Amino acid sequence: MRIVVLTGAGISAESGVPTFRGKEGLWRKYDPRDLATPEAFRRDPKVVWEWYNWRREMIAKAQPSEAHRILAELERRRDLRIITQNVDGLHQRAGSKKVIELHGNIWRVRCVICRVRYYDERVPLEDLPPKCKECGGLLRPDVVWFGETLPQEELEEAYRLSSEADIFLVIGTSAQVYPAAELPFVAKRSGARVIEINPEETPVTPYADLSIRKGATEGLREVLDQL
Ligand code: NAD
Ligand code: ZN
Repeated sequence: MRIVVLTGAGISAESGVPTFRGKEGLWRKYDPRDLATPEAFRRDPKVVWEWYNWRREMIAKAQPSEAHRILAELERRRDLRIITQNVDGLHQRAGSKKVIELHGNIWRVRCVICRVRYYDERVPLEDLPPKCKECGGLLRPDVVWFGETLPQEELEEAYRLSSEADIFLVIGTSAQVYPAAELPFVAKRSGARVIEINPEETPVTPYADLSIRKGATEGLREVLDQL
């Protein structure tokens, strides 16, 4: 039996990493939705990088939550795959091995000119904005910003896994960002049992076979015996 899990910022909220849409998500006078765009980066790469430095520092200090650890443990024992919209790498730090990252990874940088990409986990990155060692071009966080397309390979794999799932768990996503938000519906159409864990209702709720209105850890504990 294949279990596929789609996670969003809500699972990392339990590690103390703020979500975007929650009231805690604001930074200074900026709205993250105005900072996480290619236009913002073109306008002021330094201010975008300051924001990413702040997020990287916060994530570096955070620990994977119990929910991250439960999923990592399940992955060792079961046919379970994780698809995440999170860029924080907390699933991997909890021990998950085969995580599909739909929106990139905040610990990776990419050159806007020669497109070389690599991990740079220094906190904070200095001399902002950082420059490419190969060509001198601007480096940007290797994450998917608003208005950008998702990495093709990861997206295809996510659709394939979703259509093959027997159980599809949706944890901590507001299900408002497409195409990730479509995956629970792909799974449902293909016959999966869809289980949602979220303290709030989302567009997935009416379609879910079971919707648990709780936080990630508590909700996961509750469904463990049904998996
Ligand atoms: P979102 O901020 O839109 O929604 C978060 C959801 O989590 C909400 O539905 C909320 O009700 C739920 N939630 C809050 N506390 C929870 C808890 N304890 N347990 C379970 N659920 C809880 O996040 P999203 O749907 O992931 O989409 C936002 C986008 O922003 C994504 O594309 C993601 O890449 C990015 N983002 C990533 C991070 C991260 O990597 N940690 C953090 C913020 C935003
Ligand atoms: Zn370069």
